[in-house]
Amino acid sequence: MNREKTGLSAHSLNIFRECERCFYLQVKHNISRPRGPMPSIATGIDSLIKEYFEYFRKKGKLPPFLEKEIKDGKLMTNLKKTYYYEIKNNKNYYLWGHLDEVIQLPNELYIPLDHKTRASLPTGEPHDAYKFQLSIYSLLLTKENNGNEVEFGYLIYYYPEKELIDYNSNEIKNIINFSFEVKKVDLDINKTKQIIEDAIRCLKSDKLPKTGENCEYCKWIEKTKIYYIENSIKEEKNEKVEIKIVEKENEEYKETLF
Ligand code: SF4
Repeated sequence: MNREKTGLSAHSLNIFRECERCFYLQVKHNISRPRGPMPSIATGIDSLIKEYFEYFRKKGKLPPFLEKEIKDGKLMTNLKKTYYYEIKNNKNYYLWGHLDEVIQLPNELYIPLDHKTRASLPTGEPHDAYKFQLSIYSLLLTKENNGNEVEFGYLIYYYPEKELIDYNSNEIKNIINFSFEVKKVDLDINKTKQIIEDAIRCLKSDKLPKTGENCEYCKWIEKTKIYYIENSIKEEKNEKVEIKIVEKENEEYKETLF
């Protein structure tokens, strides 16, 4: 992909859905919002899951726990590290992404699948951000799907299962057990394309966009701004006073010399 073009990922576009200003600052000006410390446990579990899937990819079949949920599928043989999608009406922009997994169905359909580690099993419909992420992945798989977008994807939730705890076990490794749930998710590709267009329009503008409604940070900056301004005025005044004192002392010293 041409480095002069702007790449958009599911992550950055999900930021656009939350807050246009944060997206604009990150993609256009390379100013990312501050990150808190990342819990490494999710990354550790994620890499174990991926190794487990790799084992079954080499065998040319699905992991046993998925066989019941996804009939006649197998893991895509040559899963690439990164996928790209050219945005036809906006040649200076493209989509990119690292897909967790792709399921190959018998009719040569390639379906995106994403692993999600959670503290407990989420109830109800999957989060909109997850659906959006899968529909970006569907676009990234357009070439594999002969120019078509698939309109569904899979999420697998992995979560610690209280009922599987063996309280009598002497082995600490038997204390925490994970369970899983597979969700087939319907995707709204047209809506996703509209969001991509809106995001590009936002980037093309010279105007700083509005902030998202649900984020506390910019509201905090607005509230604290007055104290920063007052403080910097005070500091500036103090600096001026200090400079005057030093100048006066220099003058007095010069006078003592003559
Ligand atoms: S409101 Fe929040 S998300 Fe938006 S620009 Fe400010 S810090 Fe970023």
